[in-house]
Amino acid sequence: MSEEISTNVLRAAQRATRDGEWNASPPTSIQEMIAGVRLCRRCGLWRQATQGVPGEGPAKAALMLVGEQPGDQEDVAGRPFVGPAGRVLDAGLERAGVARGDVYVTNAVKHFKHETPSGGKRRLHKTPDAGEVTACRWWLDAERRLVRPRVIVALGATAALGVFGRATPVGRNRGRAIDVGDRARAVVTYHPSYLLRLSDEAAKRRAFAEFVADLAFARGLAV
Ligand code: SF4
Repeated sequence: MSEEISTNVLRAAQRATRDGEWNASPPTSIQEMIAGVRLCRRCGLWRQATQGVPGEGPAKAALMLVGEQPGDQEDVAGRPFVGPAGRVLDAGLERAGVARGDVYVTNAVKHFKHETPSGGKRRLHKTPDAGEVTACRWWLDAERRLVRPRVIVALGATAALGVFGRATPVGRNRGRAIDVGDRARAVVTYHPSYLLRLSDEAAKRRAFAEFVADLAFARGLAV
């Protein structure tokens, strides 16, 4: 993560985390949120990850994008969407006329869940379970309160679970604006990793076009 955390903020975050203060009164600034994610032990995923990966972007972005969890490269870099899926996201944003620097990008789960098959070194992605998404929703809610985006884009089913707090299938919910309170609306679309996994070229092109259309729809709602 490129943002520097001051010693005072870090100490306050350590105290608030240790004493459970944040259960009653969550972080009041993005800096505190970042420090808190690094210290978080709300579920067990911190044990196997390099670091917690908080969101990044303008403090008052109108558009917030929520992915599933950091991947292998994000876990090492400490930043969201910097690996292969991030490149698909960037391409989609560009086609939709959205500057990545104008949006706040985060994940439903902040630590990388993975497995390493015996004898291998590659860390293979594992989908976070509902309990982990629920535990980490505390941080996503904090980000939503601090950034106050007008539109939230849930990228994939896990992100939708984090955003809505309930299962919200992508296929049945694409293409519409869903009221999520606080004068914000949410849009559901594919996760960029899903587009990467499609092996049929025609299906991949079609899904990418739909992905771009969803991002453009969200951009229109955010102005
Ligand atoms: S995944 Fe989320 S809830 Fe779990 S330890 Fe990491 S930051 Fe905390």
